[in-house]
Amino acid sequence: MPRDILIIGSGMAGLTAYHILNKSGFHCLMLEKARGVGGRMTHRRHELGGYDHGTSSFKVSAPIFKDFLENFVSEGILELHEGWATPKPAGNALAKALSPSGDDFLPQAHVVDVELTDDLVRLTDAQGAVHEGTKLLITCPMPQAKALLGQYWDAHWPHADHVSYRPVLTMMLALEKPQDGNELARLMGAGDATIIWESDKPERAEGHRLVVHFDEDATLPFLQTDLKEIARHMSGILEDAGVELLNIQAHRWLYAHTKSAMAGEMLAHQSLPIWVAGDGFGLDGVETAFLSAHAAALDIIEGSDPHPDGKG
Ligand SMILES: Cc1cc2nc3c(=O)[nH]c(=O)nc-3n(C[C@H](O)[C@H](O)[C@H](O)COP(=O)(O)OP(=O)(O)OC[C@H]3O[C@@H](n4cnc5c(N)ncnc54)[C@H](O)[C@@H]3O)c2cc1C
Repeated sequence: MPRDILIIGSGMAGLTAYHILNKSGFHCLMLEKARGVGGRMTHRRHELGGYDHGTSSFKVSAPIFKDFLENFVSEGILELHEGWATPKPAGNALAKALSPSGDDFLPQAHVVDVELTDDLVRLTDAQGAVHEGTKLLITCPMPQAKALLGQYWDAHWPHADHVSYRPVLTMMLALEKPQDGNELARLMGAGDATIIWESDKPERAEGHRLVVHFDEDATLPFLQTDLKEIARHMSGILEDAGVELLNIQAHRWLYAHTKSAMAGEMLAHQSLPIWVAGDGFGLDGVETAFLSAHAAALDIIEGSDPHPDGKG
């Protein structure tokens, strides 16, 4: 049976929309190309303790966002300090807490085609499975949303093409002993890097683990390089300098941070059942993704008949 709403993406935007729509009685299906929820709010497990290689902590300034997070703070899933939230015990803790239950979530479902019929949205994933619903909310970064919507990308949305993102090369390091993070970043040629120590965060495993996010200029030469090759290259540089590494890994984000955003909160199609939300509508990362999805969910609810068996 077709779902009321199909949601593509399980980052902060998709999870927020699901939470609101599900509570209002809509039957949603969330399709996610990765194995788990979180999108860029993610965590890489490792025997030495793991790394938050995407968002580590995020700003909370809008009262509506603060209200939404209140329960998670009191449940100990988030630490909120001076307007910054840090998930515990790992960067994906909030995403996990917001995760859809049971068969409302479909992991490893990479949507490759969108088709609209008279009254249905039909999505095809990379395995060839077809998923039907009456409305569609897309929450992937704007260039991916545009590519996916193809002919349905609305001519009324020209400014959406101006949204751009900054790529980030992320190196994850576990060290035998403490070391100057700035010096490690300098050795790797990370530019004006962001350095985050896992051990500085609440409830993290013991150990000297850090994540180094390269700046854009330092990332660009590595856009095509194999990640294992990057790790080998950096490991050689650091070991030559006498750094004792226990572990080194690389990850590349093509769409890490919004560089130029779009005005407004979300996109709604003039005549088709399509909404687009996510962090392309502001420069505040997770908070923007929340506010955008919140606006999209309310817009969907406003324009819909109440569901007969609403879960309220
Ligand atoms: C290294 C790094 C550091 C960051 N630091 C901060 C920070 O300090 N503070 C802050 O606020 N923000 C930060 N951000 C940005 C923040 O993570 C994002 O703005 C926010 O998480 C975006 O949420 P979203 O739901 O809009 O998108 P995403 O989290 O990208 O979610 C989109 C989801 O869609 C899925 N998807 C895409 N295409 C398809 C498809 N075809 N089929 C199925 N699924 C698909 C993706 O796998 C993904 O899970 C950082 C990001 C990175 C990468």
